[in-house]
Amino acid sequence: MAREITIDREECLGCESCVEICPEIFGFDETEQKAYVKHFEGCSDNLIQEAIDSCPAGCISISE
Ligand code: SF4
Repeated sequence: MAREITIDREECLGCESCVEICPEIFGFDETEQKAYVKHFEGCSDNLIQEAIDSCPAGCISISE
């Protein structure tokens, strides 16, 4: 399944919630204090959805 996960880094608040939920996909840039996408695979769809739902900025999106 090809999918693309993106973070709108302008909107990211640096809470690290997504990184805690799905560290295989989301990394954290300590310098910029913002999350980034490392890989598109590595977590279950449920965990990815949980990360999206937990993002206080609503800045994670996924396209299939
Ligand atoms: S959950 Fe959202 S606001 Fe928090 S670090 Fe991840 S992308 Fe940024």
